[in-house]
Amino acid sequence: MGRKLPEINEKSSICMNKCVRVIKITLVLVVSLLFVCCNSKKNEEQQEELNAQSVPAFCADSAYSYIAAQCAFGPRVMNSAAHDSCAKYIIEKFESLGLDVISQDGVTTLYDGTKVNMKNIIARYGGDDVNCRIIICSHWDSRPWADNDVDATNHHTPIDGANDGASGVGVMMELARLIKDDDTLNIGVDFICFDAEDCGTPQWEEGGHDDANTWCLGSQYWAANANSVMKDLGTYKFGILLDMVGGSESSFLKEAFSMMYAPNVVNDIWATASNLGYGNYFVNENGGGITDDHIQVNKVGIPCVDIIASDINGRQCFPMTWHTMNDNIQNINVNTLKAVGQTLVAVIYNSASANGK
Ligand SMILES: [Zn+2]
Repeated sequence: MGRKLPEINEKSSICMNKCVRVIKITLVLVVSLLFVCCNSKKNEEQQEELNAQSVPAFCADSAYSYIAAQCAFGPRVMNSAAHDSCAKYIIEKFESLGLDVISQDGVTTLYDGTKVNMKNIIARYGGDDVNCRIIICSHWDSRPWADNDVDATNHHTPIDGANDGASGVGVMMELARLIKDDDTLNIGVDFICFDAEDCGTPQWEEGGHDDANTWCLGSQYWAANANSVMKDLGTYKFGILLDMVGGSESSFLKEAFSMMYAPNVVNDIWATASNLGYGNYFVNENGGGITDDHIQVNKVGIPCVDIIASDINGRQCFPMTWHTMNDNIQNINVNTLKAVGQTLVAVIYNSASANGK
């Protein structure tokens, strides 16, 4: 992931020195609280119904293996062989799980003017007759520079991005594996793997992380062309972005833009996690606002939240492995994956239930 906007609340002021200058961005957002397909206001009766349901068990070891498989290609930086190979792996994995996969290819421009080929990958669960859908998304590229590493000699070296990139995709693959054979789910799920999220201006460039537009290039491209690769945008109830969801020391705060655009979705997810016993991961506190792919999903009118890790001890904005050489498979933790994955399983089934399963 990229950058944090310190003006959102006092929590993020901790991050002033480490991250970014204050900027103002204006987002044009259409928040549709009522959707034709899903009148989703969950009541206590529905929650009790969910609690009584048996939902599939999320297998964290399986998600871990999917993360390891991505990392095995090497850093997934733009215009590299590892990037191409991993894209092929992601497409084939989702196809092997029976999902319809769309590849959205394009060319985008990095902060320094370099043109790169990018590929967003959309894996779709649920047929054309499904009139209510949700989005679960993550970025799949990895940062080309370990520009936050304590060792300055690493600042131009690409990172594995086990947590920052691969973890979200691994969780999505395991979710797809769990639901692929369940024809009772009255909901569609679009798993979107965004490319080119983490190419934002490196810290060692003059100006640092100043330009928000240099991040999230893949989701920017997706938002500009969403109608060509998505179902009717009005059928999407909400979206959930996963970013750094597998780290050893993780806490997930209520990210500020998510609270601004989709507070009900945030509160439902955090309450679901708490009910499942994961309140120590999904901390009931407000966090700062972060420029991340969910901004682009919100831009097309789909309320989207960001589940993104903060440093559990508050030493810096993001986990200590963020944009360092230590963001590797050795620092992926199955307990964190389980907390996030099982919460998402419950959210998916609860949404299906609310849609009249
Ligand atoms: Zn990142």
